[in-house]
Amino acid sequence: MGTNYSQRVAAYRKYLQDTDASLAMCMTDVKGDRGLHPSKQKDHQDYYLHIVDENKDGIVIRGAKAHISFAAACHELMVLPCRAMTEDDKDYAVSCGVPLNAKGVTIISTPPEIPHAQKGSFDFPLGGGLGGDAIIVFDDVFVPNERVFLKKEWRFAVMQTYMFSNFHRMTADAYKYPIIQKFVGCAMLIAEYNGIERYGHVRDKISWLVKYAETTEALGRLACELCVSEADSDLVYPKPMLSNLAKLYFAENSMESIQHMMDLAGGIMATMPREKDFKNPVTGPMLQKYLRGKAEVPTEYRVKAINLAKALCGEFEQIASLNAEGSMASQRLQIYGTAPFQEWKELAKKMAGIPIDKKK
Ligand SMILES: Cc1cc2nc3c(=O)[nH]c(=O)nc-3n(C[C@H](O)[C@H](O)[C@H](O)COP(=O)(O)OP(=O)(O)OC[C@H]3O[C@@H](n4cnc5c(N)ncnc54)[C@H](O)[C@@H]3O)c2cc1C
Repeated sequence: MGTNYSQRVAAYRKYLQDTDASLAMCMTDVKGDRGLHPSKQKDHQDYYLHIVDENKDGIVIRGAKAHISFAAACHELMVLPCRAMTEDDKDYAVSCGVPLNAKGVTIISTPPEIPHAQKGSFDFPLGGGLGGDAIIVFDDVFVPNERVFLKKEWRFAVMQTYMFSNFHRMTADAYKYPIIQKFVGCAMLIAEYNGIERYGHVRDKISWLVKYAETTEALGRLACELCVSEADSDLVYPKPMLSNLAKLYFAENSMESIQHMMDLAGGIMATMPREKDFKNPVTGPMLQKYLRGKAEVPTEYRVKAINLAKALCGEFEQIASLNAEGSMASQRLQIYGTAPFQEWKELAKKMAGIPIDKKK
């Protein structure tokens, strides 16, 4: 194509390595009307990040990226397209590396859900660790040529989106498995503390959760073990079918996992008194007495396990399971797009005695 993008990418990668810089991936545009292509948006043209100007030294970009994890804590922003583009959208086909402190960059970051001071507290065992996802506004930011990796080559935009998501869905799976392990551990503790672990319906739910954990892990692991390498490149990436399946599997089943946890824990998950009530000299002893489950287990353990369950089933976890690393529709699209239908149709034809004509 006559570009020198691969040399620019290699130089940028070396820069990141040499400076030990951390990178936030800025793919998701704010998107406006989801039913319209980037160039066809109505009230303004900046719902998808795009090139608004260029000169011999570089380009000028405008737009906003959404939900960018931990952006404020990174050194560099890697901008890339989040969808397929048409020729009319060519100004929106852009990838580049932008330093966090570049002129024109504004980061509007979510605070942690729970103040850091309360992290690990009785009421909020997971508090403080989450948050920091940002809307990043790029208000006419200049990017020098050496940091531009796609400039208007609109046909290639979707390839960058897909290649990023092959990795991203696998990394989602890699962090999800340890979360599910703790989730299942917590469900088992609650079942034991409540004295219900031997009942059939409880074992069924716990077995379902074990299946959820182990299938999530197996799909992600297999995506790596069956990784794909291409002859003319040294790039190796997770098998797209399996990395997409891994993410889709845990997202589709996330709500059912929460249902099982809520069922096992009972209504106290919604009505748990707060730490101040346990510390109160009048109500504390009452709660110690009445909120115990099994006699051998201190009340405090049961209460702590239920508070952890509440946090693990929290709003952030639920929404992140579904949406982070791409919507379920985007995974289904990639699964559909990579399935070997031709081969499977031929197998079916052979079995049914239908002649194999490659065209039909
Ligand atoms: C906690 C968290 C962290 C994240 N971190 C990052 C990050 O670091 N970097 C990053 O780039 N992104 C990040 N994301 C963004 C994530 O990839 C998106 O949330 C996801 O792709 C969905 O996009 P959206 O939120 O804009 O929802 P929408 O796109 O509005 O999706 C809502 C619904 O609309 C449907 N929809 C949207 N457009 C179409 C269409 N054209 N045709 C048919 N259906 C459509 C979707 O399938 C879905 O059902 C993060 C998200 C979360 C929740």
